[in-house]
Amino acid sequence: MNADDLPTLRDELEAHGLWANKGLGQHFLLDLNITRRIANPAGDLAGQTVIEIGPGPGGLTRALLEAGAHVIAIEKDARFIPLLEPLNAWSEDRLTLVQGDALEVNEPALLNSLPGGGSAVGGHPTPIISNLPYNVGTPLLIKWLKAGPWRGDMTLMFQKEVAQRIVAKPGSDAYGRLAVLAQARCNARLEFTVGPRAFTPPPKIASAIVSLKDLADPYPHLDALERVTFAAFGQRRKMLRAALRSLTPDAETLLNAAGITPTARAEEIDQAGFRALAEAWRAHTAASAT
Ligand code: SAM
Repeated sequence: MNADDLPTLRDELEAHGLWANKGLGQHFLLDLNITRRIANPAGDLAGQTVIEIGPGPGGLTRALLEAGAHVIAIEKDARFIPLLEPLNAWSEDRLTLVQGDALEVNEPALLNSLPGGGSAVGGHPTPIISNLPYNVGTPLLIKWLKAGPWRGDMTLMFQKEVAQRIVAKPGSDAYGRLAVLAQARCNARLEFTVGPRAFTPPPKIASAIVSLKDLADPYPHLDALERVTFAAFGQRRKMLRAALRSLTPDAETLLNAAGITPTARAEEIDQAGFRALAEAWRAHTAASAT
């Protein structure tokens, strides 16, 4: 099965009288060489169920189907559904289209409603592979970082600047909440960047693909980590003993319990340090509740 045999994506858009709606972050990849490259970091997809957010005209959907995946594609813009439907017959029933807002979708319920239950084939965690709409990329990532065992590894396209924040290491300007949260669950790697001209219409900025592979020891208490990173990076130039006063007046005790020097700044604290801080915060809130 070769997606090059299908009508071109540009012809499909024209035939259906469709144009990009910028309010929905619509910038389309019409070159299959690029969409195939996006599918690559996920490895062998044959027989796997994959979730794709925002298929639009279906460039990435075609690449995923060509790689042998069963694709659950969630698209908010109903105009694209008639254009996408024929891909189901082409892929011999491996495409499930869902019209709706990905922020509101309950993925485990959706997966369970499919024939075969759970991850439709094989019961494996379900990878997510998407060229995400810019306006909801970060909230979707946070939602999936918190997700249960239904979720598999992720290969996601973001604005380049957001991608850099996800993979950033301590000591860099890009290092912040997003890096700590993402790397508490996943090994995050920037795979490659894509310039604006690859898209129709071109966005103002470059994009990048990030692969997020689940860690063997993911940190389980993401809510506590969110809380402490929000306070720590909310005033990132301040020493932590001052920045964390929004959490507790006794920030210094919290930092000592976590083994962190109170005069350190947020961007100096690594993953292990933030885990220790989240644990100290959990112990503090548990003690205050009794
Ligand atoms: N995957 C296509 C491609 O690579 O050419 C389109 C990517 S475009 C950057 C983002 C897509 O996400 C658009 O089709 C848009 O309609 C859709 N979208 C925007 N917000 C959405 C949401 N909240 N839930 C689901 N889809 C959404």
